[in-house]
Amino acid sequence: MEEQMKLYLESHLSAKDEWIIQLEETAKQDRVPIMDSIGIDYMLNLIKIHQPKRILEVGTAIGYSALRMLEANPAAEIITIEKDEERYQQATENIKKLHKEEQITVLSGDALDILDKLTAEKEVFDFIFIDAAKGKYQAFFESADQLLANGGLLITDNVLFRGYVANPELAPKRYKSMVKKIRSYNEFLTTHPAYITSILPIGDGVMISYKKD
Ligand code: SAH
Ligand code: MG
Repeated sequence: MEEQMKLYLESHLSAKDEWIIQLEETAKQDRVPIMDSIGIDYMLNLIKIHQPKRILEVGTAIGYSALRMLEANPAAEIITIEKDEERYQQATENIKKLHKEEQITVLSGDALDILDKLTAEKEVFDFIFIDAAKGKYQAFFESADQLLANGGLLITDNVLFRGYVANPELAPKRYKSMVKKIRSYNEFLTTHPAYITSILPIGDGVMISYKKD
């Protein structure tokens, strides 16, 4: 049933340009966990609706989601953070190939350090996408919250991690601690007084948090 639903939804995604298909192929081959097709489709629609001018991403991988977010709002400026040196290089190359290096800046390093720097520099964003180490979501949020303008959107990916977040007893041992952390993050943000948060069971679980104006 669920598989059928997924196929049905995928068959209703709009046609993808060649560069998107190619990046998806590369990601699949190299086992890079890019955002799921249905989840990103929804996030891109949010970007089209809200037209954020400054977007911050935590977890660039090969630049796939950053490039797609830019396509959803070509007027945006995107800053994205990646700590893996090889992926940072790949992302930079992909972005250059598509001539988007003016709009997308990839910062190399641990997001925890870079977010601190951006906060110290009093940077402000109107859209923040968190898609990196799932055990660190709470820590990423502490900085992201300071960087996000009122009225802005915070999107967090993988908040239902393979279904284990709702069924922690089914989680293999190696995931137990991460699942516990995601559960406490979800609890924290859905009850946070400054945010209005919804968790959508699409992709690997997409969380939408609106920062009250
Ligand atoms: N947003 C991308 C996928 C990101 S995958 C897309 O949908 O196309 C998650 C990435 O986060 C990985 O490449 C991983 O190296 C990176 N990452 C994990 N922990 C990080 C950290 N603390 N700081 C910066 N990047 C991190
Ligand atoms: Mg993800």
